[in-house]
Amino acid sequence: MPQMPQNHNNRPLPNEGANPRPRADHPGRSHNPNAGDSVRRSRSPYDSADRNAARSGQNAPHSPYGAPRQRVQYDGRPPRYTAAARQQAGTHQQAEASQQAGAHHQAGARQQVRARQGAAPARRRPQRSVQPEPRRSKTPFVIGTAVVVLAVAIWLFVGSLSVKVTVNGQEVTVGNGKTVEAAFEASGVSVSPGDLVAVDGSVLESGKGYLFSASVNGQAVQDHATVLSNNDVVEFTDGGDIEEEYDGVDSPIAFTVSSEGSGALHVYEGDGTDGVETTKTGKISGKTATVTTTEPSNVVCRYYNVDVGDDKVIALTFDDGPTSQYTQGVLDVLAENNAKATFFTLGEQVESMPDIVKRAAEAGHQICTHTYDHAEGSGQGVNLGFMSAEEQIQEVQKGQAANDAAVGGETSRAFRSPGGNFNEQTMKTLRPYITSEIGWNVDTEDWKRPGADVIASRMLSVKPGQVILCHDGGGNRSQTVEALRQALPQLREQGYSFITIDELLKYPAKG
Ligand SMILES: [Zn+2]
Repeated sequence: MPQMPQNHNNRPLPNEGANPRPRADHPGRSHNPNAGDSVRRSRSPYDSADRNAARSGQNAPHSPYGAPRQRVQYDGRPPRYTAAARQQAGTHQQAEASQQAGAHHQAGARQQVRARQGAAPARRRPQRSVQPEPRRSKTPFVIGTAVVVLAVAIWLFVGSLSVKVTVNGQEVTVGNGKTVEAAFEASGVSVSPGDLVAVDGSVLESGKGYLFSASVNGQAVQDHATVLSNNDVVEFTDGGDIEEEYDGVDSPIAFTVSSEGSGALHVYEGDGTDGVETTKTGKISGKTATVTTTEPSNVVCRYYNVDVGDDKVIALTFDDGPTSQYTQGVLDVLAENNAKATFFTLGEQVESMPDIVKRAAEAGHQICTHTYDHAEGSGQGVNLGFMSAEEQIQEVQKGQAANDAAVGGETSRAFRSPGGNFNEQTMKTLRPYITSEIGWNVDTEDWKRPGADVIASRMLSVKPGQVILCHDGGGNRSQTVEALRQALPQLREQGYSFITIDELLKYPAKG
C-alpha cells in the first residue's frame, strides 16, 4: 500500500509543527507544544507578525508562526525577550505604530497589533488569535483527523487483499495472495488436468499432470504464483502433461547443405551450425526416446538468376587464365568498351604471371579462383567431385592464395568449379571457403573455336541479368578476343553495360 504512508505524512500530527518552511535555526519540522494551534490558522505574513506581537504582549508561548522572521530570528528564549530585543533594535514600524495609536508603555504588543491592523487589510482575522482557544478544544479535531487517517489506511489495506478479475468471462474477486492459482480456486472453472507421461509420450498416470493452463491478458503464464491486478483477464484451459524424470544423453545433429532452385548463381545462405538431440531414459518407465533438443541451422545453396528490372546489364566471365597471349587482349577490348568483367583464374598460372592479374584488378575487374590447377590429378582435370575433400579444399585455397598474392589483398571468394561440376558433396566441402559458385546462362563454347562470328553471335543472344561464359586460357583464344571486338560495341549500342559478378549479385532473385 504505497499510498498510505504518503497520506499519513501529509496530515499534520497532533504534536507536529505544521509550518512547512524550515526556520534558519530549526531546519525542517520542529516539535512545538503549540504547533497544534497552527493547524487551522492562516499562514499570511500579516498573521504571523501580528500574532507574534499579540502573544508577546501576553507572554504567550512561542510559536513557529509567532516570529517576525525578517527581523528577529528565534533564539529559543521566551518571546518577551524577543520583544525586548526588537525594541532595542529600534523596530521603527512597530514603535511608530504604538505611538500613533497612543499606546501606553504597558500596552504591549496587543496595541501594536491594533495599530498595525489599521493599515492592514486583514485586520479582523488576527483578533481571533489574540485570544487563543484553550488547548482542550483542539482535542476532538485531532482525534477526528486521526480516525479519518486510520479509516483510510484500513480501507486501503483491506482493499489491497483482493482484486477483481475476469476469469473465463466471469467476474471473480480473488483474495488469498491474488495469485493465478487463487483465481483458479475462486472461479471454480472446470478444466481437465494433464497426465503424467513417459519419455515416449505414453500415459503413466492419468490426471497427474498440470491442473490447468493459464493466460493473463492473452499472455501464457507458467508461474501460477503470478500476482494478478484489478481488471486482468484470465483464461484457464486444460492442464498440460508432466513428463517423468529421465536421464538424458545429448548428441549433435549435423547441419545439412543442400541446393534449392535453379539458375546460374549459386549462393550459400545460412550459418551452418549443428543441432542437438537428446536420448532420454525414463526413471519411472525405463523407456527410451530420442528428441531434437536444438534444431540444426542448415545451409541452403540457392540457385537463381537475378531480376535486373529495366537495367540492361550483363556479366562477362573468363575462365582458365591468365595467359600471356590472350588475357591482355581481352583486357584491352574490355577497356575500349568501358566494360567490367570477372576472371576465374587458375592459381598456378597466376603464380607465373601475377602482374596481369594485378592489372586486371586495378582496372576494376573481379578476381576469383577457378582452382589451382583445374582439378588435375585425381580430378581428371575437370571434376572436383573425383577428389577427396582435402584435395578440393587445397585446390580452392591455393587458387585464392595465388590471387591474393598477385593483387596484394584479399580477392573475391566467389568461385567457379572446373567444368561447372558442383555436386552436393563439393558444395558442402567447400562451403567454409567460398561464398558462391557461379555458373552461366550463355555458353559461347569459345574453347571449341567455332569462329569469332559464331562466338560473337552467341554473346549477342544474351538477355539482361545473364552471365556469359568465355575463356582467356586453355588454348588459342584469338577467336574469343576477336568475338569480343565484334560483340561488345553492338551490345553497347543496344544499351547494355557490363558489370562484375559482385555487382550482379546485388540484384534480387527472379521470382
Ligand atoms: Zn575451366
